[in-house]
Amino acid sequence: MRIGADAVEARHRTGVWSLPAAMAAGLVDRQGEPAGHGRGVIRRLCYDARSTILRCPAPSATVFNCDLHCHSTCSDGLLAAADVAMRAAANGVDLLALTDHDSLDGLSAVQAAATAAGMGFVNGVEISIEWQGLQIHMLGYAFDRSDQALNAGLASIRSGRVERAQRMSAELEKVGIAGAFDGAMRYAANPSLISRAHFGRFLVDSGVAKDLRSVFESYLVPGRPGYVDHRWATLADSLAWVHAAGGLVAVAHPGRYKLSRVEMRRFLAEFKDLGGEAIEVVSGSHTQEHVDIFARYAREYDFLASRGSDFHGPGESYFDLGQLAALPDGLKPVWAAF
Ligand code: AMP
Ligand code: MN
Ligand code: MN
Ligand code: MN
Repeated sequence: MRIGADAVEARHRTGVWSLPAAMAAGLVDRQGEPAGHGRGVIRRLCYDARSTILRCPAPSATVFNCDLHCHSTCSDGLLAAADVAMRAAANGVDLLALTDHDSLDGLSAVQAAATAAGMGFVNGVEISIEWQGLQIHMLGYAFDRSDQALNAGLASIRSGRVERAQRMSAELEKVGIAGAFDGAMRYAANPSLISRAHFGRFLVDSGVAKDLRSVFESYLVPGRPGYVDHRWATLADSLAWVHAAGGLVAVAHPGRYKLSRVEMRRFLAEFKDLGGEAIEVVSGSHTQEHVDIFARYAREYDFLASRGSDFHGPGESYFDLGQLAALPDGLKPVWAAF
């Protein structure tokens, strides 16, 4: 028996499947064991793979809606962690990772809200690193969030953000922008995670720049007012911390870095040598051209491919939770490895 697309869609919405329907849709095999792209995830989401009623996400990478990159007020997002999860569930996300900057604080709230909403959830974090003078972001997934070395490592890069923010404010003062430290802090629900995003909101709302895009063209980036150096983790640190905690690592929005083709190859080769598993291919920060380029890199380097909106908040992010294109065909989704 093959069930029609309408029935698959209806069941996808409700999440409730009979065993024969789940078999017919390719979600499970004859024994009721999960099958296909969503394997590991489906295994955890099924209440009982052998009973007649299953609660499963949709079967394939194209309909299985994973959003593996977003932020809450625990770092520089605008919504509380539980609200991020509820919004994702309402948008039809099947599997969500909250990836706050350098912090695991929101994970338990997201897990609780995701579970209540019947949505899949995996631990995530976005780690700030420095590589050859550039600030780059790495995503860690499916790690043990109680791991001490990971928590200590993240604490080490969080510390110093407040002092950095004071230096940023002093630099902005030199070009006539007063009160930026206090101004940015007003937007930071978690002061220890004060970030350029909070300064960006202050600069927009105080009329210095018209939107966040122009903030990051004229301020807060290397060579522009308000940018200061900071000690982040190294590439090797980020991989070692996440791997030791049992997780895997993806490069966040690789299209955003100002790297030449040669430098990008050097970076990806180093990442691969250190055991890096995945790159974000579909990202809220990527153009279609970036998607094509990084799909090619994923095939060439045999990286798993990830998909994430990088949602920071309504009205601020171009892409809402779960509302991105599917991964290009032929890529191995990172969630198959969770
Ligand atoms: P920080 O961790 O303090 O260096 O701040 C980095 C954050 O600034 C990112 O996570 C984004 O939220 C924001 N950001 C950086 N570049 C841009 C950009 N070009 N457009 C919008 N937001 C940006
Ligand atoms: Mn951010
Ligand atoms: Mn980022
Ligand atoms: Mn992000």
